[in-house]
Amino acid sequence: MAILLLQPISLWGGTDWNVLSDSEKQVLERILDHWQTWVPERKSSGTAVMMTFEELYDGLGEEESGFLDRLRAIDPKRQFNFQGDFLGSDTEEVRFKRVENQWIERNGERTLLYPQYVPEPVYLAFEKMMRAMEKKIGKRLFIESGFRSSAYQLYTYVYYINNHAYSLVETGHWVALPGYSEHGQPSVQALDLINEQGINGDDDGQSVEDFESLPEYAWLMEHGSEYGFVLSYPRDKPGITFEPWHWSYRGPAALGGGRT
Ligand SMILES: [Zn+2]
Repeated sequence: MAILLLQPISLWGGTDWNVLSDSEKQVLERILDHWQTWVPERKSSGTAVMMTFEELYDGLGEEESGFLDRLRAIDPKRQFNFQGDFLGSDTEEVRFKRVENQWIERNGERTLLYPQYVPEPVYLAFEKMMRAMEKKIGKRLFIESGFRSSAYQLYTYVYYINNHAYSLVETGHWVALPGYSEHGQPSVQALDLINEQGINGDDDGQSVEDFESLPEYAWLMEHGSEYGFVLSYPRDKPGITFEPWHWSYRGPAALGGGRT
């Protein structure tokens, strides 16, 4: 779920703002322990990605809620030198398609992907594109990650803080904060794609080149824009990490191959 590459922080000098204090680490542990009691179940039923802030805060104490509020108040452009824009999350008018029964074969083992939610028009455009791809090269891709609610985005960010030495900035190099992800804004809905053999360029033991060298990727580069999809984070674009698996739906506006 890497997103944008950021410069190491230098604006604050001290570590108070960026790296969690010992007492904040304990708050974080309590939050994660509590989430562990209900989130895994929601993940396997496929509805975790649609969670609300009300659900995310439910059952947490004052300190824990305050910690989440602190994270939500971060302005990553200013505080993380984040290169992307605030996108928001306009979901009121959106009808979501629940995408199920996506089977792949990872290391020779049949694996069912977690259900995903995708705005209906995006799903229809994606399936149309996959039919064209299959007709041409006999292969297709699957949706490993579609829509993610702002609350789920915050959950993901918090979940990864201890993997990044408790540094909020470091964590922000890899996980977007709510409102800054194309996965949370249906008007630029992003899909993370995976092929039938489980190649996504992102899992342990894989490199971006593994995805980049796929014929499925070559086909997308040539034809994706005809179906309204653009590569959000292309190779060699300054200040961002190349993500060949991450495609954003821009609708007919993408025709003509303009990649923004
Ligand atoms: Zn993505």
